[in-house]
Amino acid sequence: MSARAAVDDRPRGTALLRDAGVLRRHGVGGPRYSSYPSADSFSTAFSDGDFTAALERSNAGGQDLSLYVHVPFCRHSCHHCACTRVSAESTRRAEPYLSRLDREMVLVSRHLDRSREITQLHWGGGTPTFLILDQMSDLIDRLDARFGLSGSRHRDYSIKVDPRDADVFTLRHLQALGFNRLSLSVLDLDPRVQRAINRHQPRVLTEQLIDEAHRLGFRSLGLELVYGLPGQTRESLAETLEQVIAMVPARLSLFPYEHRPERYAAQRRIRTEELPPPGERLTMLDTALAMLAEAGYVHIGMELFARREDPLTTAQARGQLSRSLNGYSALAPVDHLGLGVGALSRLGGIAARNPVSLADYEARLDAGRLPVERGLRLTEDDRLRARAIERLMCDMRLDLAVLGQQFDLDAGVHLEDALARLAPAERDGLVRRHGQRLEVTPAGRLLVHRLAAAFDARAT
Ligand code: SF4
Repeated sequence: MSARAAVDDRPRGTALLRDAGVLRRHGVGGPRYSSYPSADSFSTAFSDGDFTAALERSNAGGQDLSLYVHVPFCRHSCHHCACTRVSAESTRRAEPYLSRLDREMVLVSRHLDRSREITQLHWGGGTPTFLILDQMSDLIDRLDARFGLSGSRHRDYSIKVDPRDADVFTLRHLQALGFNRLSLSVLDLDPRVQRAINRHQPRVLTEQLIDEAHRLGFRSLGLELVYGLPGQTRESLAETLEQVIAMVPARLSLFPYEHRPERYAAQRRIRTEELPPPGERLTMLDTALAMLAEAGYVHIGMELFARREDPLTTAQARGQLSRSLNGYSALAPVDHLGLGVGALSRLGGIAARNPVSLADYEARLDAGRLPVERGLRLTEDDRLRARAIERLMCDMRLDLAVLGQQFDLDAGVHLEDALARLAPAERDGLVRRHGQRLEVTPAGRLLVHRLAAAFDARAT
């Protein structure tokens, strides 16, 4: 389907969302609930001792581990950025950070059972591919020395790749280091949009990397796009989607751009008059949904789409999809340990976060302390609500009777507050209730995190 045809004759995607009032009433922002409680509700009344006790407690369960490593550096400064990142010109800037990361690994790994398998690893940022190849090798060696990385072919080791900082040698190197899944930031291929967000990324860069990734046999390739960017129109987004679909990625993420210049300084450079109006954003979304469906992508939930044969799609169909701090996964849920500035952890009955300020992160480690800054001990109510949120977001349905059996209570009564908060979404056709069962509608899939928010008892 040509981009022009997609705009003019597109099959109507999610008709309900063309009623702009639904999006206005429920919004697209707010926590993504990759884990509940969200970091906004963490407290500073959480000590290093609370964290080390949780690490040791988590050994008793013997669960596999998922590691997240945050590499905050960026050579570029995109105007739409909302990430925890540090601008840097020289890769030498990363050296002291890598030393601090190693110190953190040493302090943490003392409390962890080395026999636990690291089945999942993700490097995010910032830009992990800011690191030069030797630095990447060094970081993998340190992770392996402290935790023992997995050689299993079932491992899920992924990295966020900025095509401007990577070439075929980078991909080969990443594969040699054990990564088997790549996530490429594309955002938009239209040069006018790229100019408006200060991100010059010629299409050929992305195409070459994707060709090479396919040739090397990377198990899974995901591309990240954003809609609602300055200068974007329904036609330009359709052109980008058409080109991206032709690259046949296994997964595609289409994030909504949230303009919050009061919170993210980089966004103050965006000219608000260039932002597409709400009605245009809605049409973009509708166009994208129709094009992706026609190209054979299944809407997993929120921003994520995957091909029919992708493990995420089959796991969702079997009711085996899980959601963790690394996002949706076809693997069973495991304990999650975050390393680096701003990283989140969840294991041993707690959730915790490292400082988002690089200076604070470094100062704690230099003082010989774990860099955990905030956290909370999970209550039974947190666990119940976390399960409800995870099942709703993964299965797009929730059976309160099953949930009640798992927690030995009447979930319909215990979650009465949440069910009452869902009533407006039910009226707007985002979710349906049949007795003890809740079912998210196709329109609700896009806003499933807003439905999950109804279960959030800690939201302020
Ligand atoms: S959007 Fe990504 S590459 Fe751009 S400045 Fe932010 S973290 Fe760096």
